[in-house]
Amino acid sequence: VIDGALGHGGGQLLRSALALSMATGRGFEMTAIRAARKKPGLMRQHLTCVRAAAAVCGATALGAALGSTTLTFSPGPVMAGAYRFDIGSAGGTMLVLQALLPALARLEAPSTITLIGGTHNPLAPPAEFITDVLLPVLARIGLRATLRLVRHGFVPAGGGEIVVEIAAAAPWQRLVLHERGARRGASVRALLAGVPYDVGQREVAAVRAGLGWSEADVPAQIAQVESIGPGNAVLASVTYEHAGELTCGIGERGRPAEQVAAEAVRGLRDYLRCTAPVGEHLCDQLLVPLALAAGGEFTTTTWSPHAEAQRLLLGLFFGDVARPTRTEAGWRVEVDGVAGA
Ligand code: ATP
Repeated sequence: VIDGALGHGGGQLLRSALALSMATGRGFEMTAIRAARKKPGLMRQHLTCVRAAAAVCGATALGAALGSTTLTFSPGPVMAGAYRFDIGSAGGTMLVLQALLPALARLEAPSTITLIGGTHNPLAPPAEFITDVLLPVLARIGLRATLRLVRHGFVPAGGGEIVVEIAAAAPWQRLVLHERGARRGASVRALLAGVPYDVGQREVAAVRAGLGWSEADVPAQIAQVESIGPGNAVLASVTYEHAGELTCGIGERGRPAEQVAAEAVRGLRDYLRCTAPVGEHLCDQLLVPLALAAGGEFTTTTWSPHAEAQRLLLGLFFGDVARPTRTEAGWRVEVDGVAGA
């Protein structure tokens, strides 16, 4: 039984519970789903996670309805295959992927997942975070997947599409990630769909100014992208030999370009101020995949409420397998792997 108010009391608790349940074959009952949120219960994105997880492992899911605050999930065996799920709103496709990826990546056959919804959402990883930051680290532990962005999807129209190819499981490798290594480069990108070009120019200029990046040192790209509705995002990224970070600002009607850029600047500044290789969001997204694989150890810039929620949830399934300790460089995190559990 999982109290949905644990830790940060958000949707990620549900997605991770689904991932752990599918991977271990252990059912769960979750109460007070998204208790800490303004509109608690299952929103479209969370409901798609539940339905998708149920389809992938032939589960029964009692309480799988919009607004539901309780769910009883009884998984069956996870099946590799080609799946397509449509969130039916601009809900974040990257978040649905979080729920499905760990269990499908443990199978001896490959899978393909097509997801329809938002690809650049507030408070969620943008597609480029998955391809440039998360998947390269997961590849190091033996979880091999690629993500192709077919069409961008923005709030409120959605309709974006991603295709994720998940390779058959390879032997798991323990992660050891304490150093960034040499700096390889940085970039700034503005994505525009039905939004004037000068918005992109202002965003790029504001990111450069905010991070002290010169035109000569940091290349910029302003891209008109295909989408069924208007939208805008600005992405700032930095890459090192062993790690990287990508932050974003998401445009909204009436929100000045400089404010959108400031959001991307804030996130990247936090990362650049530290020396730890794993940024705040990567940290919470690594814990479940690592625990389900061979485990590992890494240094992260911060231990967020999202990460703490993952630790508490992992505790319910496996005991004390994720252990953060404060260090000079940030937080050192050790995760025991339970592959085969
Ligand atoms: P709610 O809490 O309203 O249910 P939710 O389902 O969208 O919302 P959260 O529980 O807040 O989800 O989890 C959001 C997830 O998205 C976390 O894994 C977090 O690390 C990740 N995330 C949020 N913003 C970013 C970002 N800018 N870059 C990368 N990852 C992000």
